[in-house]
Amino acid sequence: MPQYFRQRNCYFCRKKIEYIDFRNTQSLNRFLSPWSKIRAAKDTGNCAKHQRILTQAIKRARFMAMLPYLTR
Ligand SMILES: [Zn+2]
Repeated sequence: MPQYFRQRNCYFCRKKIEYIDFRNTQSLNRFLSPWSKIRAAKDTGNCAKHQRILTQAIKRARFMAMLPYLTR
């Protein structure tokens, strides 16, 4: 019977990043879906702590018009 282990490999934990710069849209982009929606933590493998920081950074970047709210 196959077992599936959900990998807990948070990108930011691995890179030991504590602060996510919202101006670095290139690295934020990898956590957005093709429609510029924020991908779920279980999708990206991010831990809760970093997912929260990431969400804040993306929202800030959107507010500064560096990232789109929605792309069609
Ligand atoms: Zn993490």
